[in-house]
Amino acid sequence: MPASVRSAAIQSIANKRPVEFPHAKINLPELFGANVFGLQAMRARLPDGAYKGLQSCMEHGQGLDPALADQVANAMKEWAVERGATHFTHWFQPMTGSTAEKHDSFANLEDGRLIMEFNGKVLVKGEPDASSFPSGGLRATFEARGYTAWDPTSPAFIRENTNGATLCIPTAFCSWTGEALDEKTPLLRSSEALNREALRLLRLLGDTKVGVVYPTLGCEQEYFLVDRDFYLFRPDLIATGRTLFGAKPPKGQELEDHYFGSIPPRVLAFMQEVEHELWKLGVPVKTRHNEVAPGQYELAPIFERTTVASDHNMLCMEVLKQVGLKHGFQCLLHEKPFAGINGSGKHNNWSMATDTGENLLEPGHSPHENMRFVVMLSAVVRAVDLHADLMRVTIAHAGNDHRLGANEAPPAIISIYLGEQLSEVVDAIVSGTQGKGRARELMRLGASALPPLPRDATDRNRTSPFAFTGNKFEFRAVGSAQAVAKPNAILNTIVADSLAYLSDKIAALIPTRGLEAAINDVVAETLAKHQRVIFNGNGYSAEWHAEAERRGLPNFRNAVDAIGQFCTPKSLALFERFGVLTGKEAESRMAIQAESYSKAIAIEGQSALSIARTTVLPAAQKHAHAVAVSVRAQKDLGLSTEQQEKRLRATSQHIEALIVGIDELQARFEHAEHHAGAPLDHARTYRDTVVPAISTLRESVDALEALVDDALWPLPKYREMLFIQ
Ligand code: ADP
Ligand code: MG
Repeated sequence: MPASVRSAAIQSIANKRPVEFPHAKINLPELFGANVFGLQAMRARLPDGAYKGLQSCMEHGQGLDPALADQVANAMKEWAVERGATHFTHWFQPMTGSTAEKHDSFANLEDGRLIMEFNGKVLVKGEPDASSFPSGGLRATFEARGYTAWDPTSPAFIRENTNGATLCIPTAFCSWTGEALDEKTPLLRSSEALNREALRLLRLLGDTKVGVVYPTLGCEQEYFLVDRDFYLFRPDLIATGRTLFGAKPPKGQELEDHYFGSIPPRVLAFMQEVEHELWKLGVPVKTRHNEVAPGQYELAPIFERTTVASDHNMLCMEVLKQVGLKHGFQCLLHEKPFAGINGSGKHNNWSMATDTGENLLEPGHSPHENMRFVVMLSAVVRAVDLHADLMRVTIAHAGNDHRLGANEAPPAIISIYLGEQLSEVVDAIVSGTQGKGRARELMRLGASALPPLPRDATDRNRTSPFAFTGNKFEFRAVGSAQAVAKPNAILNTIVADSLAYLSDKIAALIPTRGLEAAINDVVAETLAKHQRVIFNGNGYSAEWHAEAERRGLPNFRNAVDAIGQFCTPKSLALFERFGVLTGKEAESRMAIQAESYSKAIAIEGQSALSIARTTVLPAAQKHAHAVAVSVRAQKDLGLSTEQQEKRLRATSQHIEALIVGIDELQARFEHAEHHAGAPLDHARTYRDTVVPAISTLRESVDALEALVDDALWPLPKYREMLFIQ
């Protein structure tokens, strides 16, 4: 009985209390990293020489030699077994958007006796069957073998669950022919490229101290929580992660009372356990708060080295989902679980740091530091202007299409927000000697200090997809559900390219102009050329769309339009030059991205069809029947039924439209299914035929939701899912 389903869910939720978890008084510093085989655990368990060897491998991103690997493996196993681990797994990120793991126990038989064993060979290399992971045609099933290789820059950790514990070893995943089959490998390669090019430029600028430059990342993760009792009756949420149907609730987010509001007790209990789990895993979670939409929340860690932060964000997403279940919640990471209210993003805070503890995007106090800052800034401006299309690809997927360009998230046009002060500096540099007063003063980078740049929250522009926020760039168009390895690999690569460009240019000018003038010239020229990508105004406005077009900035309105840009000759040359992806690897990634778009839409189409046909239609018919019977009875008694008949007619019409919508979606879905071609063409077909048919069908369903007897309506409603927690 549908009515009892919803009311039973509500009753069950009304009786729920915050879920406690066993925790002594929390000692955060002690708890932090307790389940990580990090530097501390290594130092405690490894002989001095081995520890130093491993540390050096971690710092320089080198592989381990076999003897050292054996020592590390043994220490790691002992540490893990003491913590109750019976199994280990190589933990990797195939191109599915999530992580993969295959568990093996440490068990081995020796003279009929079971011993716990783990050696360097197994630590360093695993051989999962690669045939069932997406490869975009890189590898046929008959040559399915792939291998995973430990990435010593990311420490091993233990995942605990109800009945045991598993040692997870973060790895990269490649085919036997050496092609990357995962998201991690290009991220590692791009970090190396960034390191190489940043060091070259720093040396040119006179730096002799910095030994390593690495990208840093802090991900602000937004998510929704829906009670499991509702979730389980929403087949669309289960299959697609978003509601395909649902009428607007009487109250949405218009009161703006949720953002930073007090956190509901059950949710807070959930967050506390999430944080507890993440701290144990060494994820430095820092911030928790309510987000703008009802039922929406955010979690943010302290930034870290990008390769680690990217792994940690995968862990955040996993832990949110798993701990959610324990607390009776379903955590929704989809970019747009509910129509009509805000969707979720993942602000991707990016910068570059040195092993000497400096942030290269920090405006400095001395003229020298400022010069370095402005050079780095112009590298980023050039990178984004030249490769806005590539940045757009990295955030292109079916879920994010509902968000980008809507009046809640950044537009699909990639631009940079610098804020007024910094833009003034850029203008001054560009106008060079023509600048007057302050501008003239600012222009001489090597000789004067930058004005202090206030890091004022009011100065921030929420509508910009890529904003400078004081000492880092915030890529805000990234979707909440997506793995961040890809956008960061691209950011690293395009900035590495610009750093290389600046080095070449400056080096060529030094003999004739001297260092300071060479830098001034090159920075001024670069900023002048690429300044068009800077925009400090309202990114939501129609004027900006027109203005961006005038400036020649690309605007890829949807994922499918964007995906093709991954393999332009310009992009391929960039990937090859910096050793981030071979042409073949890039092509395969583009195919996978297009295929996953098609798959997402196909699942949405099928899910919409089955719900409309077998859940909504019968409920609407039952309702219409009951009304018809009642009208007839009243008529028999000679009562007036004019208004009721009018209502009934409207309901009937919506039912008719619903059936037309179902048949149309079915036909288009079949057409798209059989219209396979190149992956991108296939995706285009889904976008142009199935996507609009799902929206049309939704109109009928949502109209009926507003008419049908509440007791008969089978799907938990927005007003329930968003507000009852
Ligand atoms: P908000 O943007 O919400 O005001 P913050 O600016 O404090 O919040 O930081 C947001 C995220 O940016 C956090 O995860 C923070 O650790 C991260 N962050 C801060 N500095 C850097 C940096 N240099 N590189 C990368 N991420 C950073
Ligand atoms: Mg932020």
